[in-house]
Amino acid sequence: MATINSVLGPIDTSDLGFTLSHEHVLECSAGIQHLYPEFIDREGTIKKAVGIFKKAYAEGVRSIIDVTTIDLGRDIGVLEQVSRESGVHIICATGVWLDIPRAFWVATPDMIAPLFIREIQDGIEGTGIKAGIIKVANGDDGVTPEGEIILRAAARAQIATGVPISTHTGARGRVGEEQLRIFEEEGVDPSRVYIGHSDNTDDMDYLSGLAEKGAYIGLDGLRVAGNSPGTPDFRQRIDIVVKLIEAGFADRIMLGHDWSVLGDMFGGKEARRETERHNPNGYLVISREVIPRLRQMDVPDETIAQIMVENPRRFFEEG
Ligand SMILES: [Zn+2]
Repeated sequence: MATINSVLGPIDTSDLGFTLSHEHVLECSAGIQHLYPEFIDREGTIKKAVGIFKKAYAEGVRSIIDVTTIDLGRDIGVLEQVSRESGVHIICATGVWLDIPRAFWVATPDMIAPLFIREIQDGIEGTGIKAGIIKVANGDDGVTPEGEIILRAAARAQIATGVPISTHTGARGRVGEEQLRIFEEEGVDPSRVYIGHSDNTDDMDYLSGLAEKGAYIGLDGLRVAGNSPGTPDFRQRIDIVVKLIEAGFADRIMLGHDWSVLGDMFGGKEARRETERHNPNGYLVISREVIPRLRQMDVPDETIAQIMVENPRRFFEEG
C-alpha cells in the first residue's frame, strides 16, 4: 500500500481499482484555453466528459491515468471537475509530449527536472493539485537531442520523487529500447517505467525484451479503428495482449485506449468523427469488447484482474 496523488488529492493505491493506463480528457495545444478560449468548447467538454465518466464508473472503471502534458493543452481545472463530478479517479501528468517548448531545447536536464518536481511536490499552476506521473514522448524517428534533455530531466524527477514515468514511444522504431537505455544511465529502475503505444508493433522480440528488463508494456491503442496506418488493427492488438500473457508477461502489461473527449488534432474534425463512429464505446472498449474477447480466448479472470487492477497499483508502488 502506498499513497499517490490524484487530481482530488492523495489516494491509497488500493483505491485505484480497474485502471485505464493511458488516456486523455481534453487534448489541445499549450495555452489555448487561456489565450483563445473561443477556439475550443471547454464547458461543453466538461459536461460531456462527466456524463461519459459516470457511465464508465457504473461499468467498473475506477481510475484513469491522464497523460496530457502542457504541450497537449493540459487543463487541470477540467480534470479536477470531471473527477469530482463523475467519481472516477484521475492521475494527472507533469512532463512534456512531442511539442517540446523551444525554450527547453537549449536548457539542461537539471534546469527542467525541478519544474517537474515542483508539479509533483507542490502542485500545478498554483492549484495544489499534484502530478502523479511523468510523461515523455519520442516518435518513430527516435530520441532527438531536445527529446533527450526531457528524458534525462524526467529520469531525475523520477528519482527525486519516486513518481513513475509514462512514455509515448515510436514502437516501430524500437524507441522503447532507447528510452530505457537513457533512463537506466540515469539510474531509473525499469519497473518505474511504462513504455506506451507498444501495441503499435507486433514484434514480440522487441516487446519481450522490454518486459524482461522489468518495464511495463503499455498496450494502449485499443480502439476498433482510428490508429495510425501501418500499425496493427484491433484484432491484432488483442492478439498481442494474449501473446504477451502466454509468454509469461501478464505481470508487465497495462491496457488503455488513448481516448479523449475532445481531441481532433490528429487528422481534424472529420477524422475525429470517423474515429468516434467506429468507437462508440470510447473509454469502454476494453470493458465491453476486449475483455469479453480475452475470455473467449481462455484468458482467466485472475489474469484480467492482474492486468487491469494489480499491475497499475504495483506500478505506482514499486521502487
Ligand atoms: Zn496519448
